[in-house]
Amino acid sequence: MKHLSTKTPSAREVALTKLRVAGYHADAAAFTQTYIEARVSYAVAKEMFRAGAMQRERGVRCDCNDCKAVQ
Ligand SMILES: [Zn+2]
Repeated sequence: MKHLSTKTPSAREVALTKLRVAGYHADAAAFTQTYIEARVSYAVAKEMFRAGAMQRERGVRCDCNDCKAVQ
């Protein structure tokens, strides 16, 4: 078992963020690809996707690299 680190996000954390961003952009292809690669449970993946979609509905600014590059 690896120790939990607060400095570098784990592969799982990175994947969860990707799933959330995919939800924000309603990007089903990115969701499916990340879900397959990350091997998180479908329930967790869907929850992150939904959280991203809700951020958008609430008018929260997206924090993904693509959107940051535009700002
Ligand atoms: Zn974005």
